[in-house]
Formats: sequence, structure tokens, C-alpha cells
Amino acid sequence: MGVAQVQNELSVYQSMAARFDTAAEKLKLDEGLKKYLRTPNREIIVHIPVLMDSGQLEVFDGFRVQHSIARGPAKGGIRYSPDVTLDEIRGLAAEMTWKCAVVNIPFGGAKGGIICDPNQLSLGELERITRRYTAEILDYIGPERDVPAPDMNTNEQTMAWIMDTYSMHVRHTVTASVTGKPLDLGGSRGRREATGRGCMIVCHEALKRFGRRIDTTRVIIQGFGNVGSQAARLMYEAGYKIIGVADVHGGIFNTHGLDIHALIDYVSEHKTVVGFPDGESIGNQEILEQDCDVLIPAATESVITSKNADRIKARILVEGANSPTTPPADDILFDRGVFVVPDILANAGGVTVSYFEWVQDRQGYFWPEVDVNERLKHIQVSAFNDVVRYGEKHNVNNRIAAYMLAIDRVSFSLKLRGIYA
Ligand code: GLU
Repeated sequence: MGVAQVQNELSVYQSMAARFDTAAEKLKLDEGLKKYLRTPNREIIVHIPVLMDSGQLEVFDGFRVQHSIARGPAKGGIRYSPDVTLDEIRGLAAEMTWKCAVVNIPFGGAKGGIICDPNQLSLGELERITRRYTAEILDYIGPERDVPAPDMNTNEQTMAWIMDTYSMHVRHTVTASVTGKPLDLGGSRGRREATGRGCMIVCHEALKRFGRRIDTTRVIIQGFGNVGSQAARLMYEAGYKIIGVADVHGGIFNTHGLDIHALIDYVSEHKTVVGFPDGESIGNQEILEQDCDVLIPAATESVITSKNADRIKARILVEGANSPTTPPADDILFDRGVFVVPDILANAGGVTVSYFEWVQDRQGYFWPEVDVNERLKHIQVSAFNDVVRYGEKHNVNNRIAAYMLAIDRVSFSLKLRGIYA
């Protein structure tokens, strides 16, 4: 579920580019490489004709941006939303390159999107949109080229349709063509929880740095879609006190802690957290500014801006969503001593388990969930330590440290490969 933005002071691409420029400058990156890495390799725009249930023909616009294949196949989700823009997809595709490099998995970065409102579409219409979009980008995707995954408003079913459409065209079943699939179609155990679990893992690491205990740590989560709800559940089960949760309709707040299992049952019936009996209602922007120890924005981009950053009371910010904080807000949070675990590190659990899924599909051998979770933990803890140490060494905040580390890794691969003329 998305949450309305406070104010979009910089577009997603502009935010990415501003951070890229800062990091590239600190790395003293060669001007040519800088130009190359700031721009995506390929941008595909498709106009998809779809027969609606009414019998009318409708045309939807879709995008797939492949930012980089320097370290491996392009990798990244596909989102469905009425507000998707090419600029947003371009920014998010680049962030996927940096995210995969931060956790050191052998992928480049991509992102896709279709301008549509999934709430207004039937299941049949969604399937036809998905299949035709897949057919339009078919020449550019595949296990060795570009591997889609779920993102906002897409899920396991969407991935099953993409995998099937791709497989029908190439005349055999290619489970490794997408990740985030249902378990019965080559999905990985632990993939559904992976992004939320990753947020919890980096949160544990951040607490250790401050010598804090889990059971006295108060957490607020904005967003109750796949990332927010799984983070809430896992952190609740680990002993954190979840004092506030919000979705696109509003929020619920209880300083004594919410019963997240009861809340999940409530949401499956009412489709929103609003009205949950055991707490006070609160706005989904207001909730960001409440007193807490850990804040997890897990809804949408640009919710923490220069307009509200000085009112954020959390000590630790764990970015479950992509690009929830704008660069001007970064500076304010840094000056106020907020410990930020940036999106390309905090929410990298999803793509990390996507990598495991791709590996398992290619091997045709599937791992038990404990192995998936253990390997995920190992990767995220190492990446957390790499980023924090890098930041300390170069005297930059965690976000710029994560960008520097990623850009350094990608440009090293590029230098080794050379430029094909
Ligand atoms: N959409 C998720 C992300 O933004 C997952 C991408 C993937 O698994 O490829 O990280």
C-alpha cells in the first residue's frame, strides 16, 4: 500500500543523481565513467493494447529501464501504479545497480513499471496487461539478460504470468526468468519475508552499535504492504515493541505496543489498519513524527523531506521503501545525529533472496528456509559492516558510504571489462 507523499522536492532520478554526484566526487571518479554510470544503458517504452472486460480496447504505457549489466544480468522489480513515470523508473533502476553492488551479488540494475491503477482492474485485465507487457519486452529479458521481480502492486501471481509468457515464447519452462514466484513454480523459501527480514537484520546491527536492547526498542512502521507487514511481524516476534503502523488510509498508534498478529488478522478482514480497536488513530504522515527509537518508512518515495525531517524523533531510520528520504532531508537528519540505514542497504534483503531464487532455479535444487535465512543474514550483516566502516573511514554518512562502496565496485568491474568499441 502506498502512502501519499508530503512533497516531492526532487524526483527519484534527481535524488539518485545528486547522491551519485556526491559519492563520485569523493571517489574522484573519472569524468567519462561518471557520465557513463549516471545514465542507464537502455530505456524501453511500450504502449500495450489490452482488451478490457467491457469489450473495449485500452492502451497502457509501460517502461523497462536497464541501468547496468556491468556485474551481471540486470535485476529489479516491476511496479503498477497510476503515478509511475519514466523518470522514477530510471532513478529506481540505477538504485538497483547500487543495491546489488552494496550486497555484492552478481547482478546489474533494472526497474519496470506500467501506468495503471490495479485497484480498478479485474484479475483478467491484470493478467492480459502483464502478459502483453512481457511479450513487448521479451527480447530484452531472460535469466542471462534481465530478471524481473515484484515491486509496488505486483506479486507472486504477476511473476507467474511473466514466467509463463516468457516460457511459452521460448517453448520451454524457464523458471529463472523472474524471481519472487510462487513456491510451486520455482520460488524460493523465505523470499516473501526477505525484504522485511533484511530490515530487521540491519536494525539488530544498528541497535548493537548503540548498545540497545530489542525489548525496550519502540518501532514505528509506515506502510503495511509486503515490506511493512513482514517487517512488523518478524520484529514483533523478535521482541520489538511496535508502537505505530500506518497504511495509505491512515495509521494506528499505541505507546504500550500493538499486537501485530491481531493487527494482521484485522487487516486481512478490513483491508486497512484503520479502525483497529487496540490503539488510537493517527495520520499516515503524522505517524512519522511520533516519538520512537526506530522509524521504518516502508511505503513509498519522498515521504521524509526538508519539510518534516527536523521533526523526525527516531534515533535510527531503516529505509524499507526505495527512496523514502530526499537529499535535503538527508542533511537535516545527519546534522541531528539520526543513524540512517539507507534503502540500498536496508531493503536489499528482497533482491538478495531473489539472487538465491535465481541460483536455485538454475541448479534445480531448492534450499531449506533456514539456509536461505542464514545466508541472507550473513550477506546483510557483512554489507552493513562494510557500509558503516566505509563511512567512518571516509568521514561520510551511511548513504554516501553505501553509494561510494557500490560505485567503486561497479566501476572496478567496468574497468576490468573495458569499453567495447
Ligand atoms: N523490488 C524489489 C527491490 O526494489 C526487489 C527486486 C528484485 O528482487 O529483483 O529491491
